[in-house]
Amino acid sequence: MTSFDFLIVGAGFAGVTMAEQIATRLNRHVLVVDRRKHIAGNMYDGFNDAGILVHLYGPHIFHTNNKRVFDYITQYTEWRNYQHRVFAYVDGRFVQFPINLNTMQELLGRSFDPEQMNAYFESVRAKDVTVRNSRDVIVSKVGEELYNKFFKNYTKKQWNRYPDELDASVIARIPVRLNRDDRYFTDVYQGLPKYGYTRLFERMVSHPNIHLMLGVDYREIKGMVPYQKLIYTGPIDEYYDYRFGALPYRSLRFVHETIDQPFYQSVGVVNYPNDYEFTRITEMKRLTGQEHSKTTIVYEYPTDDGDPYYPVPTEESKERYRQYAGLAEQDDGVLFLGRLGTYKYYNMDQVIAQALSVFEKEIVTKYSHS
Ligand code: FAD
Ligand code: UDP
Repeated sequence: MTSFDFLIVGAGFAGVTMAEQIATRLNRHVLVVDRRKHIAGNMYDGFNDAGILVHLYGPHIFHTNNKRVFDYITQYTEWRNYQHRVFAYVDGRFVQFPINLNTMQELLGRSFDPEQMNAYFESVRAKDVTVRNSRDVIVSKVGEELYNKFFKNYTKKQWNRYPDELDASVIARIPVRLNRDDRYFTDVYQGLPKYGYTRLFERMVSHPNIHLMLGVDYREIKGMVPYQKLIYTGPIDEYYDYRFGALPYRSLRFVHETIDQPFYQSVGVVNYPNDYEFTRITEMKRLTGQEHSKTTIVYEYPTDDGDPYYPVPTEESKERYRQYAGLAEQDDGVLFLGRLGTYKYYNMDQVIAQALSVFEKEIVTKYSHS
């Protein structure tokens, strides 16, 4: 049997970035195992029966201000320039989101300049609020009414918790702008891999030192494959058999629909904070730029059942995670990485940055000469 230097659990960005670094920079052998039958983790994409490129686990737009991460990933893909735009369906109409001058104009039927909008927010926002949770973030910026229209119910659907039960960082992801910039992200680098994420991942793992085992759960091969170090990017609570209790995760049910018309909506994503049970509809062609006479849209229905997608940042879950992290610190045989391994609501670029940095700190020094 081949002997591997590293066993990596999970073929998403955390696992594959680490595998790529170990293979190319240390010339060591890595086995990457994933219980899904494909590589690319939640970034996995492919063509559906109608021939339309779809993201199987929800819309993924790459965006970062981190040049190192961008340069790193650019070794493996060309880019389609794409600036993500989102509408929210509020009060019976589609308005730009995140909130900006145009949103306010559309909602209130009068024009705003930055000073007027600032004055308006100043008159409605909650004063003297110590920002402790996601509700505080919004009401202290834009007041109760806009909080109710855009955030309260979307958050309840998405997390099955109201914003005051969630860490401030959740809604702090969403800016409020005193200008007319209607892009969802303002990062310097934004786009989609020109030929899709799966292709990007195929190129990352295409190295003779990287071996793949797909459709296999780590638990099935535990103790059977010799290795020096385990890198684990699955849920940390599962790894430790839920010793301190299960960490909460939120999942999504994706419903795909292909329609016999060229386009369905005018932007990539439309959020429905107050209507329906789904949170948003993504039109894949708007993201990928594919030309096709039909179009595929994807509804997202949040649920507690199914694959763990979102760590749920509450006081209680953070405390529980700290217990697992404490255990991991004492455990020399394994390193945890990624959104599930370190229980962080990370975007793709943050996961790649984490893997690159852990590689430098924990792997290069210990394994380059032995
Ligand atoms: P994952 O991609 O989840 O990979 C972990 C892998 O480990 C999985 O494939 C899993 O099958 C495998 N695994 C787990 N346990 C085991 C086991 N016991 N044995 C074997 N295999 C195992 N980020 C952005 O930057 N931009 C976006 O637009 C964006 N949109 C998103 C939309 C949605 C709906 C979701 C859910 C996430 C989105 N993200 C986005 C976040 C992005 O998906 C994550 O940052 C990324 O997936 C994290 O990579 P990862 O490698 O940590 O985890
Ligand atoms: N959010 C909201 N209304 C919206 C969009 C987002 O209340 O129209 C809140 C909600 O709590 C959501 C969080 O902001 O979970 C982060 O939104 P983002 O679009 O970043 O979520 P993701 O793409 O990670 O699902």
